[in-house]
Amino acid sequence: MTLGNMESVVLFDAGAKGRGLKAKKELSPGEVVFAEPSFAAVVFDSLATQVCHSCFRQKANLHRCAQCKFAHYCDRTCQTACWEEHKQECAAIKKIITAPSQSVRLAARVLWRIHRSTGLASDTQLIPVDQLEDHVADMSHDDRERLRTDVYGFLEYWSCGRKQHSVDYISKIFGIIQCNAFTLSDQRGLRAVGMGLFPNLCLVNHDCWPNCTVILNHGNQSAVSAAFHSQSRIELRALGRIPEGEELTVAYVDFLDLSAERRKKLKERFFFECACQHCSQHTRDDLMMAAADSKPAADKVKEVTAFSKECLERIEKCRINGNYHEVVKLCHECLEKQENVLADTHLYKLRVLSVASEALSYLRSFTEAAGYAHRMVEGYRKLYHPNNAQLGMATMRAGVTHWHAGQIEEGHSLICQAYGLLMVTHGPNHSITKDLESIRAQTELELKMFRQDEDAYHTMREAAFQKQPIACSISAEESKGSIRKL
Ligand SMILES: [Zn+2]
Ligand SMILES: [Zn+2]
Ligand SMILES: [Zn+2]
Repeated sequence: MTLGNMESVVLFDAGAKGRGLKAKKELSPGEVVFAEPSFAAVVFDSLATQVCHSCFRQKANLHRCAQCKFAHYCDRTCQTACWEEHKQECAAIKKIITAPSQSVRLAARVLWRIHRSTGLASDTQLIPVDQLEDHVADMSHDDRERLRTDVYGFLEYWSCGRKQHSVDYISKIFGIIQCNAFTLSDQRGLRAVGMGLFPNLCLVNHDCWPNCTVILNHGNQSAVSAAFHSQSRIELRALGRIPEGEELTVAYVDFLDLSAERRKKLKERFFFECACQHCSQHTRDDLMMAAADSKPAADKVKEVTAFSKECLERIEKCRINGNYHEVVKLCHECLEKQENVLADTHLYKLRVLSVASEALSYLRSFTEAAGYAHRMVEGYRKLYHPNNAQLGMATMRAGVTHWHAGQIEEGHSLICQAYGLLMVTHGPNHSITKDLESIRAQTELELKMFRQDEDAYHTMREAAFQKQPIACSISAEESKGSIRKL
């Protein structure tokens, strides 16, 4: 696979949706439709010292750029790799002393790049960046005010650049960033760490039930020989078999929401009415709001739904404050009320189960966490596309939690299922898949041991557990962000 290879796709007029991309040949599940390095990308302000500004890995002890004292890198390889992109930024930051906001930094990087390459980074880029949709004319009054603040921030920063631009043109660039920038996650897919612009990816339209997924691959710079290094890039991957001529789509928002809610978000954020089949037919809305099989009274369902909504808000507040004991207490209370009233596919139940298993894992109550994670995955399976990346990440989380709880048979089984899913959504060269591969080898070994001698297995586990606390990074945090637009 060559980076930027666009041989499998063709640009076409998708009617009301504007431009779109379709398959030029039949594609199979997990196939990389195309890969694309960022045109420009930046690390979020809040993580500027914790995430490498070149490969977007989150790491301790990053090296600081000696010039601007703002950019941070894993090592010299990463620093050298992006010097061309950082050069002008470095001088600009040095001059104004404090770095401007992430959106201003990204807009400036986009413009510097346009100057260097007249908007086309390579001959495989299908359209120039400044011809992407900007929707400035559709923005609300408040959004336009925010845009204006960004533009003035930009002018202050840019004053050291030679070429000047009109306020309208700069606004357009900010508009393009706002509706097209893609959120970049760290190497474990746990946290959104930055944002970038990928011009070819921007041409892929949305569908709530898409046939592709997009994932950031951080590349590999660790090989001794530079010939084996790979660049960080996004990959558009087919979720199933896609016949020649079919439009390629990705989901800009997570599917786990009622169709009306998804439509609202898409309208507010991307300025279009979703006319996808799942929205038009309200597919699975019934499951996401379903009452339990025991057929509780309508009043009861209404009461518990309202209670859950309010309780989830309180849970979220406690979670943000890191008050996990309170989170668990509220989750217990909420799940108890939901029992025999809301179905296991009800959105509010799934949200509580997700937070409960996360908080309990953090508190190392793995057995209880595993039970909740299991129920969460069961619900997700009934709602998500079978090859959905969120489903893959949730299954991985559930598998690791079971493993930590000493439930090796179930743990190994879930980890294998997650591995199968991630091979499609992330591919074999992604760091998450590689991590999961080594976990899978470990659980396979432990499962063998367990089947030979259960007692010996538990003794071994206990000893290992006490000696070295098992990292719960994979199960601890929410794993969204990686496939979602901003
Ligand atoms: Zn790096
Ligand atoms: Zn610098
Ligand atoms: Zn839709």
